[in-house]
Amino acid sequence: MTNKPSTKINLFDCATAQKVIGQEKFLDSFKTILNHGAYCQGPETKELDEKLANYAGTKYCSTCGSGTDALTLALMAWDVKPGDAVFVSSFTFVASAEAPVLLGATPIFVDSDPNTYNMNPEDLKKAIAEVKKEGKLNLKAVVAVDIFGSPCNYDEIIKIAHENGMKVLSDSCQSFGSIYHGKNAGSIADMTATSFYPTKPLGCYGDGGAVFTNSNEENELVKSCRVHGMSPEDHYDNVRLGMTGRMNSFQAAVLLLKLTVFKQELQDRYKVAKRYDEELSPYFRKQQILPDCHSAYALYTINCDDRDELMNYLKENGIPCGAYYPRPVNTQSAYAKWNNRSLPVCEKLSKTVCSIPMTPYLTEEEQSYVISKMNEFAAEKMKKAA
Ligand SMILES: *Cc1c(COP(=O)(O)O)cnc(C)c1O
Repeated sequence: MTNKPSTKINLFDCATAQKVIGQEKFLDSFKTILNHGAYCQGPETKELDEKLANYAGTKYCSTCGSGTDALTLALMAWDVKPGDAVFVSSFTFVASAEAPVLLGATPIFVDSDPNTYNMNPEDLKKAIAEVKKEGKLNLKAVVAVDIFGSPCNYDEIIKIAHENGMKVLSDSCQSFGSIYHGKNAGSIADMTATSFYPTKPLGCYGDGGAVFTNSNEENELVKSCRVHGMSPEDHYDNVRLGMTGRMNSFQAAVLLLKLTVFKQELQDRYKVAKRYDEELSPYFRKQQILPDCHSAYALYTINCDDRDELMNYLKENGIPCGAYYPRPVNTQSAYAKWNNRSLPVCEKLSKTVCSIPMTPYLTEEEQSYVISKMNEFAAEKMKKAA
């Protein structure tokens, strides 16, 4: 028996980093911005663009207003439009599919791998063949999502996409800080979109996002679309359609400070994940991370057949948890008209997944308590089944 800790256990922790870094540093940065007055895309965002590109190992990074903006801006740079097919995982946060739909493209939902929960390359091939056979849509792009921070099978997905004349946009909104075969998130696919929403591995204190690319041309297009399609020569000539996609300087200042502890936070997330991997009962099927890869552990997620019962049990015992995601995107009302493929793995995952507390600041005592309660639940279930 492990006693309940006196501290409140968090599913996410957006606050402790402030104490670790020192709140006065945030206030100093904010004061600097109040004094210089460049509230949007000020010197802080410029410095952040450089630091993030450096971290990811890409030539360019353009920060923007959110992860959804980042996905949309990348697709705008590729001129995604009506008549285009964009292949996307269905077991994801809605924004992965919302971005192509906002541009008028047709989302083609792809099923997941039951072990990694990420896009299944075999089903991607099948979906491409179906669209080709029908002959109505132009094969345009694949949005590959790193669900819960774990890199998807890029070797396969990029190969399949490129063979079919398509680009791959990595939806790295949950996976900034992850590593795929020695490459950092941001530098793996043709372009990458990430989010700095507070609960993401690298979070600001509001909304924020970024687009990564190695192509100067793509980066210039992203920067133009971020301010309504402005021409770099004549700021009153908008040469294409764009949006308001700027990052504000306050969020950039937060991220510059958060970056100073980011590597340590990732290490601390790995430690928590390692304990869960080793100590949680095999009754729980754990999300598999591909070999030679590191997840950024936005969430630690298992799946089991009595998920709803498990969640009630954990909540009764003061352990916060979440079902991400209880509905695959293809089954949501606004996406009903594109719900025309059978996605049995996504459907099953939506009924069986459960995310448990994962923060860099989860104490060992809290970890032990989570593990003991999970394992008590599993032991009871296995006893009944025996
Ligand atoms: C959070 C998230 C987004 C959207 O990011 P916002 O910053 O909230 O717009 C997109 N895709 C995935 C997979 C996400 O988790």
